[in-house]
Amino acid sequence: MSDTPKQQRAGAVLTIDLDALTSNWRLYADKARGSNAKAGAVIKASAYGLDVARVAPALHLAGCDTFFVATIDEAIQIRNILGKIDQANPSIHVFYGLMDGCERDFSQYDLIPVLNTLGEVEAWRAFCGGLGTSLPCDIHIDTGMSRLGLDEHELQKFITNMDQYIGLNINTIMSHLACAETPEHIENKRQLERFTTALSKINFTQASLANSSGAFLGPNYHFDLIRPGVALYGANPTPDKPNPMKQVVRLQGKVLQVRAIDTPRGVGYGSTFEASQGTRIATLAMGYADGYPRSLSNVGEVYFGEHKAPIVGRVSMDLITIDVTDIPAHIVHVGQLADVIGPLNPIDDVADKAGTIGYELLTQLGSRYDRKYTGGN
Ligand SMILES: *Cc1c(COP(=O)(O)O)cnc(C)c1O
Repeated sequence: MSDTPKQQRAGAVLTIDLDALTSNWRLYADKARGSNAKAGAVIKASAYGLDVARVAPALHLAGCDTFFVATIDEAIQIRNILGKIDQANPSIHVFYGLMDGCERDFSQYDLIPVLNTLGEVEAWRAFCGGLGTSLPCDIHIDTGMSRLGLDEHELQKFITNMDQYIGLNINTIMSHLACAETPEHIENKRQLERFTTALSKINFTQASLANSSGAFLGPNYHFDLIRPGVALYGANPTPDKPNPMKQVVRLQGKVLQVRAIDTPRGVGYGSTFEASQGTRIATLAMGYADGYPRSLSNVGEVYFGEHKAPIVGRVSMDLITIDVTDIPAHIVHVGQLADVIGPLNPIDDVADKAGTIGYELLTQLGSRYDRKYTGGN
C-alpha cells in the first residue's frame, strides 16, 4: 500500500499563515517606529501554540531581533533554532527570571534573565562578579499586577542602595499592564505613572511596558520597546473595535459521516440535544482532545463556506456533531472540511462563545492535526 498523505489521514487540518503573522508583526514595528520605539515579539508557550520552530524564524527574517519567552528551556530552544539563521544575533529574554542554579544557562546560551526579585538581582550580580564580566539582565518592576517583579519596597531598596549594584548591566526595565485591553481603565494610567517614576531613578538601556493591547493605548505607553504576543497570532488587541490584525489560524474539521434523522432522537453524550424528524446531522473528526473546548457543546458553530452549521449535542473527545439541515446536501459530504476556526468564526469569536479567551484557545490547539504552514519566505 502506498503512503496516505497526511491530510487524508487527519481528522482536521490546521493552517497557519506565516505571511499574516509577519504582517501583524510589521504593523507593531511601524506603530513603534512612529514613537521612536521598536517591536519585539513574545513567543512563549511555543509561540502561543503555533510552533515556535516555524514562528521564530519567520519573525526573525521579518526583522524582529528581540524575543520574550517564559521558561529557560523555551529560550534555549529558540537560541538553537535561530542559531541556524544567518543574521544578527537576536536577544532572548526569559520572563521566569533567574531560577536557583540556572545562572550558567544564561551565560552559555546568551540569554537575558528578567530578574523579578532583589534576591535574583543579588544572585546575578554575584554570578557576573565571579565571571569578571557584567552580562546583561532585565529588571521587572511590579507597577500594579501583583504577580511578578520588584514590589514597591524592593524597588525602593534597590533605588536607595544603587551604589551596591554598580556594574549591574541592565538591558531592559520592564513592567506589565493588567488592564490594557480596557483603554479607559484607570489602572493603565496608574501603572504608566509608577513606571515612569521608577525609570527616572535607574540606569538602563531600554524600557518596555506595552503588550499587544498596551501598544494601542498611545505612544506614551511605547517607551523603547513594545512586547506584542497574542495579536501577532491574530487575536484582536482592541476588543471594542474592529480587529486590525490579520487572521493567522484556520482550523478545519473533516466530515466523517452524515445522517438523516427519521424519528426524533438524542444526539451525543447525555442526549442534551433532541433532533427532530428531518434533521441532518454531520459528524466532524475532532473533539476536545484536539483542544476544541467542550464548553462549546450546543453553543459553537462551524462554517461550510458561508453556510453556518450549529454544534448540537456535546463535544466529545474526538467528535463534534453539527446540524446541517439547512445546508444544501451537495455541500456537506464525507471528507468535506468545515471551518471550525475560520474567516467567519475567528479565534476571538470562538473563544468568546466558549467562555474563554483567544490565548487559551490558541495554546490548547492539539497535536493530531495535519498542520500546514503557508507563506513566510
Ligand atoms: C505574555 C506577556 C506579554 C505578551 O502579552 P500579549 O497580551 O499576548 O500581547 C508581554 N509581557 C509579559 C510580561 C507577558 O507575560
